[in-house]
Amino acid sequence: MKTYYVESLGCAKNQVDSELLMASLQVHGKNAGSPDCAEIIIVQSCGFIESAKQESINAVLSFRKKFPEKKIVLSGCLARRYEKELRESLTEADLIFGSDDISALVKLCGGTLSETETPSAAARPLLSLPGSAYIKIAEGCDNRCSFCAIPLIRGGLKSRSIAEIKTEFTALVRRGIKEINLIAQDTASFGFDTEKKSLLADLLKTLLETEGAFWIRLLYLHPDHFPSDILDVMKHDRRVLPYFDIPFQHASKRILSLMGRVGSGERYLELIERIREELPDAVIRSTFLTGFPSESAADFDELCRFQRNARLDWAGVFTYSREDGTPAYDMEKTPSKRKAALRKTVLETSQVPVTKNNLEKWTGRHLETLVEEKIDGGLYLGRTYIHAPEVDGVVSLETDRELTPGGFVNAVITGRAGFDFRAKALP
Ligand code: SF4
Repeated sequence: MKTYYVESLGCAKNQVDSELLMASLQVHGKNAGSPDCAEIIIVQSCGFIESAKQESINAVLSFRKKFPEKKIVLSGCLARRYEKELRESLTEADLIFGSDDISALVKLCGGTLSETETPSAAARPLLSLPGSAYIKIAEGCDNRCSFCAIPLIRGGLKSRSIAEIKTEFTALVRRGIKEINLIAQDTASFGFDTEKKSLLADLLKTLLETEGAFWIRLLYLHPDHFPSDILDVMKHDRRVLPYFDIPFQHASKRILSLMGRVGSGERYLELIERIREELPDAVIRSTFLTGFPSESAADFDELCRFQRNARLDWAGVFTYSREDGTPAYDMEKTPSKRKAALRKTVLETSQVPVTKNNLEKWTGRHLETLVEEKIDGGLYLGRTYIHAPEVDGVVSLETDRELTPGGFVNAVITGRAGFDFRAKALP
């Protein structure tokens, strides 16, 4: 079998795993193709919360239905978490493998695992839009938030070495990649397992030794051990974007402590204030969780007050998913799914005017823009540093010349349309 297709579900870390899997198949002479022409379809699944698990299983079932004759494979987090159970129950899949060992997959493709050739992370196929890529700087997590199944799936924190990350980074920059998003379950704890302290600022300084115009974006910074020394690095080199993705999850001290977190709404507001003092153009994104066991109306009011005071640029909201094996699983007085969904809607609705208002201040400003795709004669889509891939808005870019997807262009922001910018490319 020569051709395969990977359906990459879940988070950016899983996307990197899909890319590495593709690099391994490439080493074994397999080519990526569309689902229609592929002989093997691989569902790189997500096993984090109920809805994601269902989405992964539905993907296998719908591919099986559409392509009864093809080989269907389940890999990724859901396979890692329930390999044994799924082998018995998900008979629609020809193979379920929940590890980095792809020997069974290569065998299913009619090949044998090469002892000599190893795929290079730096040369791997990239599934992001042109000019952008993710680098996973660590695997696993030691924070053990009580609602989270990831440590059960990915294990404890394992930071990569700064030298290894630098090699991958430099190679991606040489490949013309302009935006490199550094990711992990918690980028703020990078180095805790190896040096018992955050090495994030050291990593950034090392990556900045690389010549060239590029962006470094940090995602998934845990608020309880925010590495303040990165602020100084950002002040001295604008290639590290003043974009902060900090999942606060909640603001009630009581709920945060039940989540296995040590923060509070007050402390988190101080952190936000500090960031904005040091970097006035800082952009802050966060996520909130509603419906956590014993969350009361008073706890939720506290979260709403925090949201009003924080004036975040972007915020996503999730409802609690009771996950077997997590400490919160046996906690009582869990609000109903309906109440959790109502609270989610309240937060989402209140966030819309805040985000729109924060976006207004950029009209008239000149911003470096990463061109991503041409949509119509003279119109392109892109992103500025204000927009992380896939989760924030975009820029619709007007121009009277050909632009190169994957390249930077300077643009003047001419207005806002919903969560998106309108802009004109500058000569
Ligand atoms: S920081 Fe908490 S929520 Fe995030 S992966 Fe680790 S345990 Fe899960």
